[in-house]
Amino acid sequence: MRRDIRSVSDEAWPDPAVPYDYPARTAGNEARWREAIAAALEDKTLELVATGGDTYDLTGRCPRCGHEICQSVEFDVIASMLPLESRFGMFGVRCNCVAAHAGRDGDHQGCGWGGSIPVPLYIR
Ligand SMILES: [Zn+2]
Ligand SMILES: [Zn+2]
Repeated sequence: MRRDIRSVSDEAWPDPAVPYDYPARTAGNEARWREAIAAALEDKTLELVATGGDTYDLTGRCPRCGHEICQSVEFDVIASMLPLESRFGMFGVRCNCVAAHAGRDGDHQGCGWGGSIPVPLYIR
């Protein structure tokens, strides 16, 4: 049976009861995930916490399921162009919550979003 490619925009986020769903890399999904991560950083439900050098923990709550997530991201220093303190990178921000999500097999974590979607992250 063909997998149902439904519109994710129908989901209200955050919802801890969302089923496991690995997002297809479509323009709509990319926009939704990037906007959700940016909004979470803005209201500090997600935060980048310096852990030394150019490495940070992205820690807080998944915009989709609302469960606790944490992952390490490493920024490359960008010489010239930007002030020395600036960091920028594209990262696969993936939900790795330990809560249960329907439809997930034992090898996976999180609610499935959004490792296939590169998200821009900045440190200023
Ligand atoms: Zn979750
Ligand atoms: Zn999640």
